Amino acid sequence: MGKKTVRHHLPVKTLRDILTPHVITLAPDACADEAITIMRKRRISCIVVTEQQQPVGIFTERNLVDAAHRAVDFAGTNMRALMSSPVVTAPSSTTIYDAFNLFSLKKIRHLVVVNAQGHISGVITQSDLIAHLGIEYFVEAKKVGKIMNRTVQSIPAGSLVRDALARMHAGKMSCVFIAEKNIPFGILTERDMTRLIYEKHDLNKTVVEEVMSSPIRTVASDAPLHEAIQAMKQHRIRRLGVTAGDGMLTGVITQSDIVRGMEGRYTESLREIVREKEEQLQAALSSFREKSAYLDSIMRSSTDSAIIATDIKMTVKYCNPAAEQMLEIRANDMIGERIQNIAQKGIDHNCLVLAFDAVKRNEEYQFSIQHSANARSRSLECRVSGIRTPEHVLAGYVLILRDVTERRQLEEQLTMAATIDKLTGAFNRHTFEDLLDRERSRAQRHKSALSLIMADIDHFKKINDTHGHQTGDKVLQSVADIIRQSIRRSDMLGRWGGEEFMILAPETTAVNATALAEKLRRNAEDCEFPLFNRVTISMGVTALQHDDSVETLIARVDAALYDAKHNGRNRVEAR
Ligand code: GH3
Ligand code: MG
Ligand code: MG
Repeated sequence: MGKKTVRHHLPVKTLRDILTPHVITLAPDACADEAITIMRKRRISCIVVTEQQQPVGIFTERNLVDAAHRAVDFAGTNMRALMSSPVVTAPSSTTIYDAFNLFSLKKIRHLVVVNAQGHISGVITQSDLIAHLGIEYFVEAKKVGKIMNRTVQSIPAGSLVRDALARMHAGKMSCVFIAEKNIPFGILTERDMTRLIYEKHDLNKTVVEEVMSSPIRTVASDAPLHEAIQAMKQHRIRRLGVTAGDGMLTGVITQSDIVRGMEGRYTESLREIVREKEEQLQAALSSFREKSAYLDSIMRSSTDSAIIATDIKMTVKYCNPAAEQMLEIRANDMIGERIQNIAQKGIDHNCLVLAFDAVKRNEEYQFSIQHSANARSRSLECRVSGIRTPEHVLAGYVLILRDVTERRQLEEQLTMAATIDKLTGAFNRHTFEDLLDRERSRAQRHKSALSLIMADIDHFKKINDTHGHQTGDKVLQSVADIIRQSIRRSDMLGRWGGEEFMILAPETTAVNATALAEKLRRNAEDCEFPLFNRVTISMGVTALQHDDSVETLIARVDAALYDAKHNGRNRVEAR
């Protein structure tokens, strides 16, 4: 249950770790045409404008779209006139989490990284950030539909590129869809605009169908987010259409949406904010009835995290709507109560005692709860940290709870996928090898018996050839079932190869293992398969010897199986 918080499993990445140092800059009086040429040729989405290595502005695809919309003459305009200024910068020691928050907060798509002298050392794009998302994000199991954007800007077929520009400009969108009878079938993006301007298309005459991309790459709204991220990476694109169950386009998901989805995802970053603003939080707590705007905004912005704040006597002073929802207790019933009383209704009391002790020692504490209410059971993760006065005197506690049910389920699925053979439900070879090694050393240490049986379906190739691969697969499943029904709970079944299985039987002598193998052989033989007379298996059996390695054990059981095949199949041989 309770475990001390390790702040991160891996050291937190900073911008320094993910930075591509080659950054292309231009001087403020450089011609905009030059910027467009560089952006097009290098396929980059922005140019940083510098003066004596200090970033003074940034020219992005968005600036380009806006300028093109205003019909700016790029050949006769310099960067100073078109760039956005000032530029949002961050030192290279900024953590990737803080960077996510910056992107979200400042609504930017590029972050200029600077060194101690304020000189430019690189640019981070949304793609860079997303490429370095931690596993935590992917196991969130968040669905595309939850963070997608439902407003799709579209223009009718036959429109001019100029119309597309106007629409992108007005909607502040990085793309526009081209639709016929309300059904979008093509897309034009900022990047396309860079290309068109570079190639000097006449934007007032070019019809969108001539230059758009079609079909639109899409992802289903119920697909997990990492699928969308994967697709974007694979196709090197920055947005996808989102389709509903009926295949109709219902929205669009962009990198900005993903980055926004990130903000507030991390209790971690939330905790950072809480820590940073301890003073304000403390003030807000003591003058609770005034409800500081600050606290309110954290509370409201956090829909995924339940936050409960108590004073030093552990009386609940504050809880957000997410807390009411998650614990299914009304705020009125929580505020003014001792947290222990609420604990009886949900949070484990012992965990809380340990947590508060840890906080007093200036540590943080995290534990998991299985919370049941209204016949629903959910996994909650609870972090407890302290609220301290500016003099570092402990003044209260903050509990942050997150519903990690879906994440847990996905973790389980991922573990399953990594250990179990999907077709037969037996352990996969990799896992079975681990088990074999573990059982071998255990048996040798305790001088107990251990036997290994290797089973191989006879003439399996013929079954495949005559009845097809699918029937072959069914036979494999049946054979695995037959074996499972006859072995003990402590025995382990693994799929060793295509139609080869291994059975590891602890506390079992060679004689007993041979008898078991004989039983398996008969059960397989007796089993009726609708399409063909019977399926038989040959088996080799061997028992562990005191000086066996895994390799010698396997070599012997393999040889025993070979004997069984050689001696006519549908038999058991021991070595
Ligand atoms: P023997 O009696 O000597 O074991 O003959 P066999 O035909 O069973 O042996 P062989 O090793 O020549 O053929 C094994 C076949 O198993 C060949 C391969 O195509 C098939 N196979 C391997 N994996 C799978 C699978 O996952 N599904 C199906 N349907 N067939 C598979
Ligand atoms: Mg075979
Ligand atoms: Mg074989």
